[in-house]
Amino acid sequence: MSKFWSPGVAALTPYVPGEQPRQRMIKLNTNENPYPPASGVEEVLRHFSCEQLRRYPDPESLALRDMLARTYNVTREQVFVGNGSDEVLAFAFRAFFLREGEALAIPEYTYSFYPVYCQLYGIDLEKIALNERWEVPLAHFPENGHAGIAFANPNAPTGHAHSRADIKLLLERQRERVVLVDEAYYGFGSESVVPLIDEHPNLLVTGTFSKSRSLAGMRIGFAIGSRELIEGLERIKDSFNSYPIDPLASAVGIAALEDTRHYEECRHAIMATREATTQALEALDIEVLPSQANFMFVRPRRHDAVSVAAHLRASGILVRHFGTPGLSDWLRISIGTDAEMTALTDALAAQDRAG
Ligand SMILES: *Cc1c(COP(=O)(O)O)cnc(C)c1O
Repeated sequence: MSKFWSPGVAALTPYVPGEQPRQRMIKLNTNENPYPPASGVEEVLRHFSCEQLRRYPDPESLALRDMLARTYNVTREQVFVGNGSDEVLAFAFRAFFLREGEALAIPEYTYSFYPVYCQLYGIDLEKIALNERWEVPLAHFPENGHAGIAFANPNAPTGHAHSRADIKLLLERQRERVVLVDEAYYGFGSESVVPLIDEHPNLLVTGTFSKSRSLAGMRIGFAIGSRELIEGLERIKDSFNSYPIDPLASAVGIAALEDTRHYEECRHAIMATREATTQALEALDIEVLPSQANFMFVRPRRHDAVSVAAHLRASGILVRHFGTPGLSDWLRISIGTDAEMTALTDALAAQDRAG
């Protein structure tokens, strides 16, 4: 609390990022990719010319947007880029959901940054309970009189994804307000709704290089939608920061998108590891929700979740426990390499033996 802060700053509840430990640990707590970025990324870093840093970058990020447009089979005008998808989401909430007297509908359990943006901007929230299978019940989103709808698909921290056909049904009855589908975890088995943007000018799809492209440290995110939505985002961006993408991020992002083989190999390895780990955890009497993401949401039955997280930490393994009421029996575990997941299941088995 400081007398220098604007009113309301002290009352904010900021997002709490997962821990980045200083000592070497097996990090299964922030859904980073365990594999390195594409080899072209290292080439870019080796040959990057300092001279490029003397000037401001392209404020329109045309080269990166063109490469994203080719990758997703859309046009450049349908692509927006930002400093991580967190920034893109922050702009989208301001551009589309700040509507006096109307609440934004989001799932009760979803990416915990959404309520943070709402508090920052003063957007009212309506939380929709998940169903008994921990899925986002699309049919329960309100029909009229709301500011819009936002959800992650696959959802976090549960990992469940709806099919494109399911989301199409939602879009057919939601035409007046923006429907934001956060595809941060696309690439691990879910379907993208990007092919629906031409038919649905109110659909905004966000994505990131942080998870499936192994580039969380580079901060590159994007949105794909109709020209009018992208223009709305550009108006917010240019009222905030004209240059969210620096020249290094642009070159690195393009190199990552060019290497489709590396992308395919990594994502398939992660999906295979996820299936093997699911079986290993179930054998230890741990409930595992079906996941189409690079993490799994699990409920230990032999010990409480807090003591499992503490035991794992003592064994050099970080996982994520959410203190949120309703989630306290669960742990979110990122998919690492096979060796990391074997270390995880070995540590869990050791806790069982210790009783
Ligand atoms: C990780 C994550 C993001 C943010 O990704 P960045 O591009 O690294 O900012 C957005 N949405 C969800 C659901 C995420 O899990």
